[in-house]
Amino acid sequence: MYICAIVFLKKIKNVVLMAIQSSNQNTNPTPITSSTAKEADIFENTLRPKALDEYIGQSRLKENLKVFLAAAKKRNEPLEHTLLYGPPGLGKTTMASIIAHEMGGKLKVTSAPAIQKQGDLAAVLSNLKPGDVLFIDEIHRMSSSVEEILYSAMEDYVLDIMIGKGPSARTMRLNIPQFTLIGATTKFAMLSSPLRDRFGHIFKLEFYSESEISQIIHRSARILEYQVTEEACKKLAKCARRTPRVANRLLKRVRDFADIDENTHNIIDLEITKKTMSALGIDELGLNRTDIDLLKTLIEKFKGGPVGLNTLSAATGEDSGTIEDVYEPFLIQLGMLDRSPRGRIATENAYQHLGLDISDLKKKQEALF
Ligand code: ADP
Repeated sequence: MYICAIVFLKKIKNVVLMAIQSSNQNTNPTPITSSTAKEADIFENTLRPKALDEYIGQSRLKENLKVFLAAAKKRNEPLEHTLLYGPPGLGKTTMASIIAHEMGGKLKVTSAPAIQKQGDLAAVLSNLKPGDVLFIDEIHRMSSSVEEILYSAMEDYVLDIMIGKGPSARTMRLNIPQFTLIGATTKFAMLSSPLRDRFGHIFKLEFYSESEISQIIHRSARILEYQVTEEACKKLAKCARRTPRVANRLLKRVRDFADIDENTHNIIDLEITKKTMSALGIDELGLNRTDIDLLKTLIEKFKGGPVGLNTLSAATGEDSGTIEDVYEPFLIQLGMLDRSPRGRIATENAYQHLGLDISDLKKKQEALF
């Protein structure tokens, strides 16, 4: 009787595992991709640093991480779950692949919007091997039902799956291999506190200095077998919004212009860089047409603000999430925009950069104080 019960439970477990895997195949063919297959953009992968020493900048994060990695290796344990947050393009995915490489595990990449059901996450987790690193991008977008089963997976390396519905519903517990979860988000505040609390390490990625961006440009140019003059590199670094992904993208565009110019011979100089920046509509501070449009709309249509994000989005035709995640952080860094509880405000720097009369702003400030 006892043996029969065990055989029966094992059968159920197998059926559950098969169901998990087939749900993954039928409804969501690839919630997970390997690190190499993730991006269609091969260029980005070629330039991704593979080891911690190749990763430029973020020195405090790197120093701490070195200690935590060494300690985990010494104890023969996986690195504790790690949360990386900060604006897009600052190196979160790159850092995850370095962690996997340093720990000798494989990196599996997915994103929260691709994991729609508990079964999707169960399929991803049950396919991991001991020591693997699971990278979940945009983790703030995870649904609460999926998040619930992630808690026990993170804490106890078990999956609690519900079988059936109503009064006959039962929970089945499956063991999963010990793994490290790396969550990445651009919106730290949108993470639920139970999820946030389950990460052993929380790191904020900072914007890069111009000299760090210059090093990244030189490194990428070396890999692509181009030579960038010092002046050209400085100019590119100024235009790169203090973000590695933008720096690499601009380098790629200058390379296009250099390739069709017969006189350049794989050398990127100031002249070709200036020509490219002006063709792309990027000004000397790295602002593009959308940044300028946002600031002009704020000043000319809304008298410099305060104006709500949704109104600004409707007035410019830009998605509010993109304004918030991509454009605003850099404008705030440059001191051209302020976020206040009543909305966005253009600062004196913005008026000056656009060559606009600041008397309106002064009058407004006087009226406020
Ligand atoms: P995120 O995941 O934060 O959006 P990624 O990790 O995809 O950003 O980084 C974008 C690109 O920038 C990568 O292809 C990589 O080549 C480059 N990159 C990011 N951080 C660094 C760094 N610290 N040093 C060198 N290159 C970097």
